[in-house]
Amino acid sequence: MSVKVRFAPSPTGKLHVGNVRTALVNWLFAKGQGGTFVLRIDDTDLARSTKESEDNIEIDLKWLGLEWDERYNQSKRFDRYEAAAEKLKADGRLYACYETSEELDRRRKVQLSRGQPPIYDRAALSLTDEEKAALDAEGRRPHWRFKLEGKRVSWEDLARGHCEVDTASMSDPVLIREDGLFLYTLPSVVDDIDMEISHIIRGEDHVTNTGTQLEIFEALGAKLPGFAHMPLLVGADGSALSKRIGSMAIIDMRADGYEPLAITSHLGKIGTSDALEAAPSLQALGEGFSFSKMGRSPARYDEADLGRLNAQVLHALTYEQAKPRLEALDVDLGESFWEAVKPNLNRFNEVADLAKIVTGPVTPVIEDPAFAAAALEVLPEVIEAGAWSAWTAAVKEKTGAKGKALFMPLRLALTGQPHGPDMAALAPLIGREAIVARLKGRAG
Ligand code: GLU
Repeated sequence: MSVKVRFAPSPTGKLHVGNVRTALVNWLFAKGQGGTFVLRIDDTDLARSTKESEDNIEIDLKWLGLEWDERYNQSKRFDRYEAAAEKLKADGRLYACYETSEELDRRRKVQLSRGQPPIYDRAALSLTDEEKAALDAEGRRPHWRFKLEGKRVSWEDLARGHCEVDTASMSDPVLIREDGLFLYTLPSVVDDIDMEISHIIRGEDHVTNTGTQLEIFEALGAKLPGFAHMPLLVGADGSALSKRIGSMAIIDMRADGYEPLAITSHLGKIGTSDALEAAPSLQALGEGFSFSKMGRSPARYDEADLGRLNAQVLHALTYEQAKPRLEALDVDLGESFWEAVKPNLNRFNEVADLAKIVTGPVTPVIEDPAFAAAALEVLPEVIEAGAWSAWTAAVKEKTGAKGKALFMPLRLALTGQPHGPDMAALAPLIGREAIVARLKGRAG
């Protein structure tokens, strides 16, 4: 069977870490098996969907590297949903209901007060054709419910193992609202059938929907797809994701300087048995992905881990990979500069500040001018690779300083800061002229 999966966001807001994880796992699963990844925009709700959100979803997915092979809009497929609805109506599986929400509320309260489950009582099923015609004549518009079989629906879930949903414990779901709006449930199944989706991969908050939707697949005479319901994301302490992090938008994470591969590595590995390390590429992440590594335990989304992975991704960037980005920041100081500074980066843009160590301006910090003068006296004529160790050995001999007392004053004089990249690599880049000026305490 060829693998075909879909990511089906509703374009009603920004993509955030939760739904990107769903997109990613679908993508990884497809690519790991030479399958097809479909982007389906769930925009049946024309009032809530926006073009801006749709465009941003595409921008975010491309930025993350999650390109799609096929793309659809539900808003262009209403004729297919109408056709499916007609079939279900003809088969007696979709029936008209005229209750108002107040009426339904009242009935639910009565049921609860009697200790009964608040399940829709199917009163509309006993309306006669005359009664329905009279209601229609009054101008009442029906909503349409799917008649569940009321049975134990089961499936073998790729992530959760054997799953069962008892549709007898559920109300017949509304598939079409009285204003004619198709709610998500039916269009999703129609699309999954038409697009020949082999596996539906989504969050475990959809498990109950799956019970209903499996009955709809059957009612439409379709072959059943496979399912995987992923455990939801939780915060670092195991509790539900805080609102702030749960709604962390990819667009904002990009502005915060997170690397796409750090985000995909983190979201692709949390909740699995894999070590939480940055993958060398999205392809490699896909090759290593398997639902068998995913348990039922929740996936911990931890910003500290994400930060660590972000640094790993930067530290693995070759000069060739970094060059266009260095150029964009106007700090392309060559390969040896990149190799010298990259181990210090947590965010790529920090490279701009590190470049100033080489290009200036630097305000030297000199606590002991006599020490700086002594260091200047033994400064090698040519500052090339190896000059730093020769120089520091000479300064040590001349001043008797060693360890931190030797290195810190030199670092402070040359960079103005107590921490930073490896001085041996930086010194040739700073150059003799600037080193002399800084040892003399001259800013620039
Ligand atoms: N648009 C639905 C959602 O975002 C899709 C769910 C599904 O994958 O079936 O929840």
